[in-house]
Parts: sequence; C-alpha cells; structure tokens
Amino acid sequence: MPDGTLGFGRRHGGEAPLAVLARVFGYPEFRGQQGAVIDHVVGGGDALVLMPTGGGKSVCYQIPALCRPGTAVVVSPLIALMNDQVAALRQLGVAAGALHSEQDAGDQQEVVRMLEAGRLDLLYVSPERLLSSGTMERLQRRRLSLVAVDEAHCVSQWGHEFRPEFRELACLPDRFPGVPRMALTATADPRTRTDILAALRMPDAAVFVSSFHRPNLRIAASAKVGETAQLMDVVQRHRGEAGIVYCGSRAKTERVAASLKAKGVDGVAFHAGLDWKLKRETLTRFRAGEPMVVVATIAFGMGIDRPDVRFVVHLDMPDSPESFYQQIGRAGRDGLPSETLLLYGGEDIVRARHFLQMSSAPESQKKVMRERLEAMISLSETPACRTRVLLGCFGETMADACGHCDRCLSPVPTRDGSVDAQKLLSAVFRTGQRFGAGHVIAVLLGEATDAVKRWGHDGLSTFGIGKDRPQAFWRGVVRQLIVHGSLEIAPGDYATLQLNEKLARPVLRGEQPVVMLDEAPVVRVSRKRVRGETVAPAGDDPLFEALRVWRTAEAKAQSLPPYVIFHDSVLHEIASVRPGDLATLGQIKGVGAAKLARYGAAVLAVLAA
Ligand code: ADP
Ligand code: ZN
Repeated sequence: MPDGTLGFGRRHGGEAPLAVLARVFGYPEFRGQQGAVIDHVVGGGDALVLMPTGGGKSVCYQIPALCRPGTAVVVSPLIALMNDQVAALRQLGVAAGALHSEQDAGDQQEVVRMLEAGRLDLLYVSPERLLSSGTMERLQRRRLSLVAVDEAHCVSQWGHEFRPEFRELACLPDRFPGVPRMALTATADPRTRTDILAALRMPDAAVFVSSFHRPNLRIAASAKVGETAQLMDVVQRHRGEAGIVYCGSRAKTERVAASLKAKGVDGVAFHAGLDWKLKRETLTRFRAGEPMVVVATIAFGMGIDRPDVRFVVHLDMPDSPESFYQQIGRAGRDGLPSETLLLYGGEDIVRARHFLQMSSAPESQKKVMRERLEAMISLSETPACRTRVLLGCFGETMADACGHCDRCLSPVPTRDGSVDAQKLLSAVFRTGQRFGAGHVIAVLLGEATDAVKRWGHDGLSTFGIGKDRPQAFWRGVVRQLIVHGSLEIAPGDYATLQLNEKLARPVLRGEQPVVMLDEAPVVRVSRKRVRGETVAPAGDDPLFEALRVWRTAEAKAQSLPPYVIFHDSVLHEIASVRPGDLATLGQIKGVGAAKLARYGAAVLAVLAA
C-alpha cells in the first residue's frame, strides 16, 4: 500500500460520526438518513439501508467502520466496484484494502499483513472469497467492527442481478456473532426488501427507506417517431459529455453505435458477446472519464460507478419499472442535472408481451413479470407526472408532482378517444384482421392504393372515415390501443393487426370509453430547466477546464479514474469560489484533510495560473 497519506482515517479516542464526516470526507452535514443509520450501527444494531443511487450509501458503513474498533468487512459483488471504493478511500487517507481473484500476490500479502496487524479499517471482499475457508478463519480470529453487504439485492431472486453465492451469506450471524450487519441496496422494490431480510437472516434489522426521488434526473418518454433523430437530439445536447444508450439486442447496439460514429459521435457498442479485449478497452476508457456514448445491452452498467454520466436513453423498453429505475439511475450520480429518455413503440410492446407469454418460467413467476411489464407500459403512456408514477411502482407516494419530468414541463392533455378507437378497431375488423397498420390506416384515410383496390377495401363502410386526421395521428391511435390491449399484433413477420375480443368488444359497442393522449409533436427542453439550475456546458468555464486538465494528468499518473481524485461538482465549486489559500480550499464540500494535504498546493497553483 504505497500511500504516504494513509492514516488520516482513524483517530484514537472515539471521534463522533459528524466529526469524521467533516475531517475525512470534507462534508459539513449528513444527508437524509445517513446520520440515523450511522448512529444505529455505531450503537451495534443491524440495518437494511435502501437509498437511491448517488444517495450516499457508502458513508453509511464507512463512518461506523472508522468509529467502531476493529476491521469492517464489506461484501461486494464486483471487482471493479471494490477497486474504485478502495482507491477512493485511500485518497481520503483511510486504510482500506480488497481481497479478490484479480490481484497480484504482493498486494494481497500486504492487505493480509495489515489485517493481521489490526491496521486495516475496511476490507472489501467478494462473497466467494469471504466464504473460502482461509479468509473465513482469518476473519473469525480478528475483531470486526461490522459486516456490510453492498448491492444487497444480489441475494434476491427478485433483484436484477441475482447471484446464487450471495445466498450463502446466510451463515454470517453464526460465523460472526455479535457483529453488527448491514445490507445496502438501491433497489426500491418491496419484494426485494423482504427477500433480503430473510435471505441474510436479519429479521430484527432496522429498515431505513429513503425517498427514491432523484431531483436531478429529468425523466422523459416518447413514442418513436424517428429513433435516430430523437436519439441525436439528446446526444447533440451533450456534446463532450458521457452517456449510455440501452438497446434490446446485441445487433442493435452495433448498428446504433455505427450510426452514431457516422455522425461524428464517439459511440461504442458494448454487449456480452464482444471480444473481452474490446470490452475491457471500452470499460477502461469509460472509467477514465472520457466523453463517449456507450451503446449497450443491459450487460453494461453493474459496477459502473462513473458519476458524471449526463444522459441515459432507452431505445427499447425495459421489462419492469425496477430495471428502468436501475438503468436511468446510472445518470447523474454526482447529483448534477442529467436527462433520461425512453423511446417506445407499439411493436416493442407487443413483442415484450409475446416473449413473456412464450417464456418457460413457472406461471406464478410469469404473473409477477406480467404485472411488472404492464406497469412499465403504463409508465410510458401516462399523462401524469412520470416521476410520481415511477415512484408509485415502489410504493412511494409523492405529495406533489416533480415539476421537472417531461409531463410536468409540457403537460399532455387527454381526450375522449372512444370514437377514434371505434373507427380504427372496426377498420381492422372489416379488413379481416389480416393486414398491418399501414394498410389499415390507408383504408381509414380513404387512399385507393393498389392493395386497397385489389382487396376491394375501397368499398368498405370504413373507407375514408378517418381522412380528417393525418397518418401520424392514426399511428398514435394504433399505439395507444396496443397499450390499451384492445389491439394486438399477431406474432410473425407481417405485423398483422388483430382485435383482442374481450377488450375490443366493449369499446366497439360504446360501453367502454377510451381515454387517449392528445399528443403534440415532441417538445425539446433545454437542460437549463432541469431543477431550475444553470449548468455550464463542458468547455464554458476556463477555470473549471484548467482544473479538469490538472485532474486528468494527476489521475493518469496514479492510474486512477479522475473522479476518485475530485468529482466534477467539487471542481465546479472550486472554480466558482476561487479559494486563495489552503484554509478556504479546505472549506469546500468534498475536500477533506487528506486531499487538502495531498492536492491543496497543486490546486491553488492551477487557480493562480
Ligand atoms: P451510492 O453508493 O448511494 O450510489 P455514494 O456513496 O457513491 O452513493 O455517494 C454519492 C456521492 O455523494 C459521493 O460523491 C459522495 O461522496 C457524496 N456524499 C455522500 N454523503 C454526502 C454528504 N453527507 N454530503 C455531501 N456529499 C455526500
Ligand atoms: Zn413530473
């Protein structure tokens, strides 16, 4: 551990949690429930901590680790995550280390030596390593301050990242009796919560549930009217910044990445089927803070801690609000305004329902999956505040609308769409439920195309009854009826529209009104309106840029991701305060004692130049 500043972490004589927060982390106060969680664990209690991404979970176990005697064991599912955390803690002067399979022998021996000497404050381990007999015996001989299970949703079969070996952590209370245990996750779903408490055998744990509202995320969704143009619109707003674009298939990630490249954007595909060297290169570049757009399947994300991802776009619909929340959560971990956009279409919805239908999962599980998918579909079409609907999926009630999602910023009126629904459904019925949307809409518009004439559809009573509205309008009606469920697309290559008897009949008979969105063309929102803050786009503030250049060089010299040294938000604050001496610099949020000692002079020199 070649680190001259280590040893800033622990001070003898039982320092208070708030004092540790200020001295080590450089923050003046606890955020949300941090204080309550820390008091509980410092006092020896078990805790389940549910906090959104970026909410500040790490501090919840790191401060008790420094306040209680002994070493804290942190179980973490991914090596990249462990390495980042250890690097960040060492920057803060805390004695932290990791034990995992991708470590050289020297580093490993050093960590073990520190552990044996009782000088290690935090030890990060994978569950496999923890459960191996050597590590377990070694730890059982030591005094432990606590055991924390990070990304605890991995124990739950309802989590997105179920890892069977996590289940074996049920042995912890037997192996380490009397040692407080913590489980931490950003998965909000109540089912996962119950599962974690049972699987880790901590029924008496205090449960700390934070609000999952992330005010810096602007959530927006839009029907696909031109996928590439809609994507480019977002990408253009974030030139020089980092973003993630999620696609439903591997082939699509490559296609979209290529099309971004052709437009001069640094788009890189990422999926599980790619060569590992390529994947590693992408991860390295991404972690090094390069401005780039990763076009990925959901294989990309877990273990990515980069705080300055400015946008997440979904080109295909996630399978549940839980996955959606998890994926958009990768934007704006640093708390700065970030945007998310979900693009969806009727065909995707049909395909998702169809796959689920065909799935070989047991019926009970399919039922849960279906509920989740339908919740996701309603979220995409809701006229209400999207943030509120999303949080509602996790049982959280927001008193007011968020004020910054697309629905809040540009409300979409609803209208009685019953008559339009009847026109469209009967056109589908009268043409024999054998044609795709293009043909059905041509009939409604009264267009005597070759096919319309050949099939004699110009003689139908529905021919031309929709000609007062443009084609795009009817496409919207098709999509909304698919969401509604009264219209379906038959499986197969031809995207044939069919009625769902049960749901379509009451609509056709006028017994069941259909509420539709009165859609206007897609509205652009400038990022300045997010949270009412003004953000200088990259490149606008020369002082910030100069600090960034210094940080990049410093990070490179230490082979670390730049954000481990200082986050963008800290650099922004330094650039705006322009401290002239170390004492003033030390007052800035995120500048603790160790970083001040290590980088203070260099930062002041950049400011002076
Ligand atoms: P999570 O693990 O919940 O995603 P982190 O622990 O990485 O979140 O914290 C997110 C960011 O918030 C980090 O940059 C962290 O340093 C910062 N942070 C945590 N606690 C506080 C606090 N009390 N005041 C200010 N910033 C904080
Ligand atoms: Zn809203």
